Amino acid sequence: MAALYGKEFDVFPAVSLTSAANLEGMKCSGAFYPEAHLDGAKMAALAAVGHSHMNFDTVAPYFSILLEASALGSEIDWGDGVRFPFVRRTAFRKIEDISICPNYMEKTELQQLLRAIRILKRRCGNQVAVVGKVMGPWTLAYHLYGVENLVLDTILEPKKTKELIWDLSQVTKEFAAAQFEAGADIVTWAEHVTRDLVSASIYEEFVLEVHKKVLQEVKAWGPVVLHVCGNVEDRISMFERAGFPCIHLDSRNDIINCRRMSHDQVVIAGGINNPVVLMRGQKSQMERAVLEKIRAGVRMAGPECALQPIIPIKNLKYLADFIHRQRYEKITKFPDSDAALHKAQAF
Ligand SMILES: [Zn+2]
Repeated sequence: MAALYGKEFDVFPAVSLTSAANLEGMKCSGAFYPEAHLDGAKMAALAAVGHSHMNFDTVAPYFSILLEASALGSEIDWGDGVRFPFVRRTAFRKIEDISICPNYMEKTELQQLLRAIRILKRRCGNQVAVVGKVMGPWTLAYHLYGVENLVLDTILEPKKTKELIWDLSQVTKEFAAAQFEAGADIVTWAEHVTRDLVSASIYEEFVLEVHKKVLQEVKAWGPVVLHVCGNVEDRISMFERAGFPCIHLDSRNDIINCRRMSHDQVVIAGGINNPVVLMRGQKSQMERAVLEKIRAGVRMAGPECALQPIIPIKNLKYLADFIHRQRYEKITKFPDSDAALHKAQAF
């Protein structure tokens, strides 16, 4: 938590802020997909493996990204052990049709996550951070009426789109507050505002102000970490303006550039490549990745995003143990980029 608040600390935290669920974890806990997406006791059992077997300093029981979408009426295929869930049919087809059912907080999908958080808080809350998760309003709009529809409506129906994002932010806010109330120490705010999907100017026009307003309110409950997949260097200064204290980034970002663009005002988490570095599990490669990221300025190192389920526990445990062997140093250097840092180390 000291690292998250930008303070000094001793042992480097090893974190998994999205999902550390994998096939082996399902076997050790007896909690398998798809049930483990929707049953609080199973969610808690599977999430606990992240600490008990992988040694992460976090446990995170929300493994998919679709609980809210399901509660609001989209039809979800919950997949199986190796297939991630996806939206089989969106709840709405046109922006005009979208309505938020008033009792969504009572829906079983959301209630079971709150239950999982309460169980984890009791079970290991004095040892590790319990991490909740919410979908941001932009992502929720994708899940409720489709990516293409939303992106198209930023052009065809900009006013209605803005209203929709404001309306959906209520769900993000209420669900986050409920998770803090249930015992979450941190809530990850997942938002697919990545460069591959939307321009920085769309983020600025349609989402930034909503984020800012909702964050001001949610922050009163606890710390929020923004998670965005992909490269976000061109918009990270906007995330800082929105007020996110911490951003969980994937390995496609130049950390030093991100620190510069965000005026070194946000704590950077994550950064370790999943599909190559963690999947292969070569010790030297994992060590190099950790040292590179920590030297560049990552303060809470760990996987970049939800794990591919076939990544073995031993790779993750090696990663977490190696991160724990690093000691805090105040960062004073500000080289040009990760590439420059890499070069400097080579000499
Ligand atoms: Zn991600």
